[in-house]
Amino acid sequence: MSAATRPTPASEALFTRARAVTPGGVNSPVRAFNAVGGTPRFIRSAAGAWLTDVDGHEYVDLICSWGPMLLGHAHPEVQAAVQAAVARGTSYGTPTEPEVELAEEIVDRAPVDRVRFVSSGTEATMSAIRLARGFTGRDVVVKFAGCYHGHVDALLASAGSGLATFAVPGTPGVPASSTELTLVLPYNDRAAVERVFAEHGDRIACLVTEAAPGNMGVVPPEPGFNRFLAETCARHGALFVSDEVMTGFRASRQGQWGLDGAVEGWRPDLVTFGKVMGGGFPAAAFGGRADVMGRLAPDGPVYQAGTLSGNPIATTAGLTTLRLATDEVYAHIGAAGETIKEAATEALSAAGVPHVVQASGTMFSVFLTDGPVRDFADASRTSAPAYAAFFHAMLDAGVYLPPSAYEAWFLSSAHDDRAVQTVVDALPGAARAAA
Ligand code: PLP
Repeated sequence: MSAATRPTPASEALFTRARAVTPGGVNSPVRAFNAVGGTPRFIRSAAGAWLTDVDGHEYVDLICSWGPMLLGHAHPEVQAAVQAAVARGTSYGTPTEPEVELAEEIVDRAPVDRVRFVSSGTEATMSAIRLARGFTGRDVVVKFAGCYHGHVDALLASAGSGLATFAVPGTPGVPASSTELTLVLPYNDRAAVERVFAEHGDRIACLVTEAAPGNMGVVPPEPGFNRFLAETCARHGALFVSDEVMTGFRASRQGQWGLDGAVEGWRPDLVTFGKVMGGGFPAAAFGGRADVMGRLAPDGPVYQAGTLSGNPIATTAGLTTLRLATDEVYAHIGAAGETIKEAATEALSAAGVPHVVQASGTMFSVFLTDGPVRDFADASRTSAPAYAAFFHAMLDAGVYLPPSAYEAWFLSSAHDDRAVQTVVDALPGAARAAA
């Protein structure tokens, strides 16, 4: 169906009401379609790989709630576990069994000895940085341009005027004092990392990086890059903080670390998690070396806390999700991704649209630019108008892509042949629209 035959009066009416009471009509900016124009579709329900909007249109979901829905929507076993947990009460503010079990599951899969639960990825990275500073007694944090770690003041930073100079706030509302201890470097750039460690090494508390960046589109670490970062940090007494909020239990069973660290034989000092481990509920975590995590209150002096941290509903959803996330789940998502990546490449090539498809494990994205994307400067060359045209043509054909050119396309184990074929069938028309 074309846009004209898929009217969206109910979404439009809700968007008008939403804008009257909520900034931009949304509770997280990218949902507003600012980058692609038009009216965001308000979703009424979801099942498996499919979303249904308030006008009754169905879409194959390639957002998957920005990553968490590894098993698809309304998975019967996750729902049953959550319903049983709700029947026992929703929050006690005491320790519970599900949080112990979820922590055990995470320690079993990921390179961490101890883990502490929080409610969002933002809290996880914020807390990991505080702990790194508390542990090392140093203040400086190194990050990469294009890596997103949540809306933590110190990490909403843009590169300063030179490579080894301290950052400036990336948004109004962040005081310069919050970013003046942050250094921002180009991703995949070993020389830049070596330079800042040579100059500031004894002041650096930690280097934080997305384990495989997905927030500028998927930009895989070049072979050995994460190991190089871990070794450089170790040499200078700084902690290596691997942000696996997006990649954790998604890029592979063991996250991005399963693709590099586990193979190459190194471990990060701290890791942050979120998304998949919450099974669609607000749960996130940070974890790491026993001696570092031991500095956290109540065992150690570094303060951190949370009213709903380790909430029994969220931890039950996360635990059930992870227990169901078997090797077959990752194999299925990988195979569905291969089909879609090939179809996207074929459609965009046939339409003459410059593009590059990049992946790390089961995560992938399609950049509408030619040449490999190895850092934020490359990603920024993506054509925004071409992506907007592509996005809307896909939406009209029943595929809900991320409404931004700089995002991963997420799949789930519920993306069956019908869902994948719907995406494949939509791609040629969308590619022509982008040309
Ligand atoms: N870190 C990464 C790598 C993320 O992708 C995100 C969110 O997209 C965050 C941190 C922040 O997580 P949250 O949105 O749960 O605060």
